[in-house]
Amino acid sequence: MTATLERGLNAFREAMDAPIASFFSSCVRCGLCADACLFYTETGDPKYTPIHKLEPLRRLWKREYTLLGKLASLLGLGKTVGDAELEEWSPLVYDSCTLCGRCTVACPVGNDLTYMIRKMREGMAASGHAPPGLIDATRKSIELGSPMGIKPKTFLAQVRGQEEETGIEIPLDKAGADYLVIMSSMEIMGYPEYLGSLARIFRQAGISWTVSSEAFEATNSGIQIGVSDIARQIVSRVVDAAEKLGVKYVVSPECGHAFTALRWDGPNLIGRPYRFEVVHVLELLDQLRRDGRLRTEGKTGEALTLHDPCQIVRRGGIVAEPRTLLGMVASDFREMEDPGMYNWCCGGGGGVSANPRADELRFKAFKIKKRQIEGSGASTMVTACANCRNVIEEGLEHYKMDTKMIGLTELVAEYLKQDEAA
Ligand code: SF4
Ligand code: SF4
Repeated sequence: MTATLERGLNAFREAMDAPIASFFSSCVRCGLCADACLFYTETGDPKYTPIHKLEPLRRLWKREYTLLGKLASLLGLGKTVGDAELEEWSPLVYDSCTLCGRCTVACPVGNDLTYMIRKMREGMAASGHAPPGLIDATRKSIELGSPMGIKPKTFLAQVRGQEEETGIEIPLDKAGADYLVIMSSMEIMGYPEYLGSLARIFRQAGISWTVSSEAFEATNSGIQIGVSDIARQIVSRVVDAAEKLGVKYVVSPECGHAFTALRWDGPNLIGRPYRFEVVHVLELLDQLRRDGRLRTEGKTGEALTLHDPCQIVRRGGIVAEPRTLLGMVASDFREMEDPGMYNWCCGGGGGVSANPRADELRFKAFKIKKRQIEGSGASTMVTACANCRNVIEEGLEHYKMDTKMIGLTELVAEYLKQDEAA
């Protein structure tokens, strides 16, 4: 056995906590998780059944943690887990799972399959079976602070660009501000208008805020690839900067996985509570609305639909807020089929869109989103995750659809009361 395989199997053993053991032992093999997974529904291939994606981990659990498995192993029976098998499973664990959580809500015995796949990724990464695209993004996160290799100079250029665009000064490294705004790589490079939109909303609401030249990146590739040490390092950057500045809140951006990493995983990763709160931008905007500090006028009459980002909605519980905000600015909002908690993933979360090996499969999986969009009859789709937006834009282009896309923060900012938003 090679040293890397041994490392990977040890990572599997370390991952084998009480929840994992109870999930494997309670699986009734009903197959309902298959119908919840877009990679299965859009290909019809049984290998994409969520519980099957965990087969090497299950085999190790059975062999080393159950009485029958141990007896079989003593008799030289039962399959072991080897490099060839892990190599075969790598596309199942990384390319065909966005960690969207839909299988988790579908499982009748409550197995958190998403948690299990994340745990399995830890062993896959340790045994050298993570995909090259994700390894590269993770390396850039460590060396340069961002998975897309964005340096502070580039971020500051985008900040200056938005200052010029809006005529509003964006505070940088302002100690004692109430809110620290961070962004995902995809927002910084693809949708910097998110920052300008926030600047306009915050000016109307009278918010004290800042961005940081030391911690501007919210994306956490450590979680996507399955390496806790790297995930901890990336979270710590934000925590250190926020606590140094003394902010009360960190505003998680329009990015699903960044929210999960910072809001839910971060305190466990660093082993202590934060000295600030993490608030998702949609929660903040809705709070400002309730406080009468977010005021809009007029509504678009365009037919709009909403894509619910899995980590923000299904895994994060922010279901009502985007709809309330849309109600302020849209008169023809149309829910898609399967909205909210049961929405279908864009197909690119969980590191899938950073993994070129998965592109062809991702476009196949997009067919479910295509059907949802077409079924809604909307001409524009709104979302609150820059990664979803980018993945959906690529899907629309692939299928030659002319649906437009817009971020929710940007849409709200377009309808700010004019005398207060100028
Ligand atoms: S988390 Fe989503 S993509 Fe991954 S196996 Fe479950 S349903 Fe499929
Ligand atoms: S839905 Fe749950 S119980 Fe059924 S096969 Fe999948 S993991 Fe097992």
